[in-house]
Amino acid sequence: MNNFYLESDLNEIISNLKEEVDLLAGKTILLTGGRGFLGRYFTTFFDKVNREYLKNSLKVVILDNLITAGEEGKTIPNYKNIYFKNHNVIEPIEINHSIDYIIHAAGIASPHYYRAYPLETLDVSITGTKNFLELARKKNSKFVFFSSSEIYGDPDPLKLPITEDYRGSVSCQGPRACYDESKRVGETLCYIYNNLYGLHTNTIRPFNVYGPGMQEKDYRVLPNFASLIKADKPLTVYGSGNQTRTFCYITDAITGFLKVILKGISGEPYNIGNPSPEISVLDLVERMKKVSDKKITYEVINYPNSYPADEPNRRVPNIHKAKKDLNYFPKVDLNKGLSRFLKWTDKTYIGEN
Ligand code: UDP
Repeated sequence: MNNFYLESDLNEIISNLKEEVDLLAGKTILLTGGRGFLGRYFTTFFDKVNREYLKNSLKVVILDNLITAGEEGKTIPNYKNIYFKNHNVIEPIEINHSIDYIIHAAGIASPHYYRAYPLETLDVSITGTKNFLELARKKNSKFVFFSSSEIYGDPDPLKLPITEDYRGSVSCQGPRACYDESKRVGETLCYIYNNLYGLHTNTIRPFNVYGPGMQEKDYRVLPNFASLIKADKPLTVYGSGNQTRTFCYITDAITGFLKVILKGISGEPYNIGNPSPEISVLDLVERMKKVSDKKITYEVINYPNSYPADEPNRRVPNIHKAKKDLNYFPKVDLNKGLSRFLKWTDKTYIGEN
């Protein structure tokens, strides 16, 4: 096992998925964006399930063009029954064998990177999603689109926690629009293929997933903070620091994702996240102080130019639908998750933020 993951975390996911894991036996999965944070996690998990659990192996084809994969992503592991192909999803692809599931996780998800690559961000969610919906139609595969909690934009506080039927409050002209709007179109494409062709589609809306495996240069808040802690520098709190998020530890996230992939009701979108606690960035700093054994300081700074500033003030999921349809109950307490993450970054990050 490589050192990107905690073995105990992978075991935790298997035990969370007691009812579902057998459904993977003998299946073929096509995973786009397979060398990103979530893609690499899926891959490592699938390899573990193959080695230790399934008699009839799962086959996985991974596609990625490695543009935002970082050093970790560019090193392709040599796993049995898991195959890698360098491919940009904005180009169609021919696959000769049958495919049971297409997990379309390719995308540019970190605000820092979609600010830098707005046109590529649009293309991957629109053209890329259409290409792989077409492939799903040809192969009669189940199709799961990785959308985002960003499709809700900056929600009306009266609508929080956000349910899947909230229509969103999104700007079509602003630094986040390339991501938000293209994910919304990606969802519309899934809706159309489901309605027009009866294709089994689901969309997943993840809410601030974090954990071991996140690249140091991902630039989202937790890798930034972990890297700054390692470098003994003050944590950088953007704006007022009163903006809030909820954070979902990776084991709970992968559990929820796989529940949607294996048991999601056709046509349905699902929020996957941990609805509590809702905390401000300043509260997050206080939690980091509690779980780290290092002395942590912070500074409140203006948004850097590299960060798209029209951010949501609050973001909190309502996950009632995933609970009801999929028996999804995230369980990793935030302080415990942060502590696991920091232990891991302490070994893997170099602290160069
Ligand atoms: N943030 C921060 N300092 C950082 C990085 C992010 O204060 O070094 C804040 C950012 O303003 C946002 C929250 O942390 O309110 C989460 O940002 P992230 O980039 O992780 O993802 P987002 O939720 O905006 O998609």
